[in-house]
Amino acid sequence: MSISKLARSIVESPTLRLNEEARILREKGEPVIHLGIGEPKNKTPITAILSSAAKLSSGDVKYTPTDGIPSLKKAIIKYTEENYDKVVGPENVIVSDGAKQCLFNILFTILNPQDEVIVLAPYWVSYPEIIRMVYGIPVIVTPEDGGFHPRMEDIQQAVGSYTKAIIINSPNNPSGIMYSKEFIGEIVEFCEKNGIYLIMDDIYHKLIFDRKQLISPFQFTQKDIESTRLIIVNGVSKVYGMTGFRIGWVVAGRKLVEVMTNVQAQTTSCVSVVLQAAAEGALTGVQSVVESLRLTIENNRDVMMQELKTFNDIRVVKPDGTFYCLPDFRAYSNDSVSLSNFLLKKALVVTVPGKEFGMEGYLRLSYAGSVKDVTEGVARMKWALDPTSPNEIYIGDRKLIRDWL
Ligand code: PMP
Repeated sequence: MSISKLARSIVESPTLRLNEEARILREKGEPVIHLGIGEPKNKTPITAILSSAAKLSSGDVKYTPTDGIPSLKKAIIKYTEENYDKVVGPENVIVSDGAKQCLFNILFTILNPQDEVIVLAPYWVSYPEIIRMVYGIPVIVTPEDGGFHPRMEDIQQAVGSYTKAIIINSPNNPSGIMYSKEFIGEIVEFCEKNGIYLIMDDIYHKLIFDRKQLISPFQFTQKDIESTRLIIVNGVSKVYGMTGFRIGWVVAGRKLVEVMTNVQAQTTSCVSVVLQAAAEGALTGVQSVVESLRLTIENNRDVMMQELKTFNDIRVVKPDGTFYCLPDFRAYSNDSVSLSNFLLKKALVVTVPGKEFGMEGYLRLSYAGSVKDVTEGVARMKWALDPTSPNEIYIGDRKLIRDWL
């Protein structure tokens, strides 16, 4: 079989692989706790269900305009005005199959082969792979001070004549931290001045805690939407807990949107009209669903922080948003892949190795599930790793004895 070098070099999504492993174990009746999960447990907002059901039962399920149905784009324009304080037109919006396809379309549209894109560690696993899929080169910038917050001086050092774009994701998957207003201001200014695209992956932007406020990057630029280097990616996957609907969108200058629309026209034609109707239902329906999801996740975050304190040797930065945290497990192992495999095998807890996010020695833990998942999951990890904890535990109805420490 002949497979292209590039396709062969693209690695499997580790998070999707872990989901599959957890599903298979659960099917076998194993009481797996999934702390690797990247989606909240909420039910789909009712307005989204009704809107897509109405579209389905109309029987009028056809192609839509490539860049999205006008009524959904109108809802996105209103969302942008309300949340970013920015007025844009329909020519500045394109709807795609989740934020993931948005990112692919953007990178395919702006990169020539060998162009570089700055990715800030810890980073979402898919950025380097998507960049490589369009023949670009990911340049990973890791803060010199060992923290999770990027520093302008590290970024400036990595920027060269081939730098086409910088991707930022705040609040951040996997660390949960939110970048400071000062940093956002500086990086917007830097990119505008140097003609570098700033791709803002805002997929978690309303899942923020401790009364933190949304930061609109547009406040830091004098340029209008047609001349700015800012590109905003957003969607309903995380904030509305609608991962299965696969709806994301990009807000950018009209020229970029035009080319991305051509790219999408030649690949997927358009997003399913039924799913676009669902997203429209979510965006135009009661917004208390978002607040209620946010509060649930914030409470889960607090429980996770409380439970992790029971470990003596783990350092964790309290997340400002998302449903992830990234504790430092180097007291137990410097090899996060082996540690994650060990925890799955011995304690039936799914975690994601920090190595996948450019942070070896760390594990990403998700608190998107239930409080019980968090408390029980951390208790199992403590049992498996900490020699000072009791050496017996019940997992499901099985009593297990730790005999390896
Ligand atoms: N960006 C980040 C940072 C993410 O964590 C995810 C989902 N895990 C996505 C983009 C993709 O979102 P979507 O499901 O809308 O494709």
